[in-house]
Amino acid sequence: MTADQRGPTGAVPSCADARVLLMGFIDGELSAEEARELEDHLAVCPACRGELTTYQRLGHAADRLAKEEPFVNTEVAWERIYDRIVRGVGWLLLWVGITVMAGWGLWVFGAEFLLDSEVPLVMRFGVGTFALGAMLLLINILRERLYRRKNERYDEVVR
Ligand SMILES: [Zn+2]
Repeated sequence: MTADQRGPTGAVPSCADARVLLMGFIDGELSAEEARELEDHLAVCPACRGELTTYQRLGHAADRLAKEEPFVNTEVAWERIYDRIVRGVGWLLLWVGITVMAGWGLWVFGAEFLLDSEVPLVMRFGVGTFALGAMLLLINILRERLYRRKNERYDEVVR
């Protein structure tokens, strides 16, 4: 790579070179000359300056996370997870109960209504499809509720 080396004239490095130098700079591994080359490039290249800002912001975020880590209170974290599980089970029972009650009610009412030969066929059909729709919606809401709770718990663990 000697033929590729920049002379003392100090040609401004390309963006590709600058990105490599940038990585080294973030990690604090640049020689004085490399740092100067990077500075030369950053002076004329807003894109790479933006890149540096982004990396620095990420770096600070990572520092903050690293500092916060030891202060995570596992007892509180477990309590929150426990709360969520209890709430999840509560929702599950609530919705199962509602579904069972509504289903039973619709079944009893529907059977009586649908088997009543005095009711016009069109009305029986209408009530039947209505009941079926209501059941499907209840089951769908139940499923969606459970799915969302599971995801929230997942977020919590990841964070
Ligand atoms: Zn550049």
